[in-house]
Amino acid sequence: MSVRRCIAGAVLGAITLSGCGTAASGTVAPVVPSKSPARSSPKPKPKPVRVTYPADGGGAFAAAKGERAPQGRGRVLRYRVLVEKDIKGIKPAAFASTVRATLADSRGWTASGDVSFRRVGRDEVRDFTIYLVTPGTRDELCQGGRDGYTSCRNGDRVVLNVARWVKGVPRYGAPLSVYRQYLVNHEVGHRLGNGHEKCPDKGGPAPVMQQQTLGLHGCRANPWPYLDGERLRGASGVYDDPVPEPDRGVA
Ligand SMILES: [Zn+2]
Repeated sequence: MSVRRCIAGAVLGAITLSGCGTAASGTVAPVVPSKSPARSSPKPKPKPVRVTYPADGGGAFAAAKGERAPQGRGRVLRYRVLVEKDIKGIKPAAFASTVRATLADSRGWTASGDVSFRRVGRDEVRDFTIYLVTPGTRDELCQGGRDGYTSCRNGDRVVLNVARWVKGVPRYGAPLSVYRQYLVNHEVGHRLGNGHEKCPDKGGPAPVMQQQTLGLHGCRANPWPYLDGERLRGASGVYDDPVPEPDRGVA
C-alpha cells in the first residue's frame, strides 16, 4: 500500500539545473534578434526538486567525492558521505556540501581547535561515515529496534534519517536549514564522544547534545555546540519524550 503525503518541506531549493543554455554538440543555434535588448538575459531560477523516498530502502548507497583539505585545525577525522540510492531528489554532492558547511562553521565542533574534518571517497580509509537513509535502513544501521523517526549514531555510523532531513520536526521554531545543521552536529557530536544533555536555562538556546528532535523543554532551537566561542552545555540526561510513529515515506 502506498501512502501519499503532501509535504511542503519535502522540496529542495538548492539544486541547480545542469545543462541550461548549452547547445547540443554539433549544432549551431540560430541568431535571433532580441526583442528587448536593454534587458540582460535573466538567469533561470533553479526549479525546486521534489524529494521522494520509500519507507524501506534497499540499502545501496551512492558516495560523495572526497576532498583534499580538512576543515578546521587539530586532529583530522576522515569521514565518508553515503546517500541511499532509493532517495530521489537529493544528490550526494548536495548533501555532502551541506554537511561540509556545517562541520566547517566557526560555531561547530572545529571551534575547539582540537578536531578537523576531511571528507574521503567511498573506498578510502576513514574514521566514520555519515549516511542519509530511508527510515527502514535507519533502523538496520542503528540496530536499536524499530524507530523509523529519529536519527542515530552507532559506532562509526552517523545515520541521518531522510524523513527528518526533508520534514524537520513540528514546533522546532527555526527553519529547516537550521534543523539540518542540528542533525549533523548532534550525531557527529555523539561520534566525538558526547552524550545527551538537558535544557540548562528556559528561554535560552538548547545545547546541541539535547534531543531537540523530541522536544525543546523550554529551550530555543540551536544547532551549534559553540556560541560566541563558548561551549554551550546542559546537565547530562534525557527527557522521557515519546518517539513519534515511524515515517512511511514520501511517494
Ligand atoms: Zn542523540
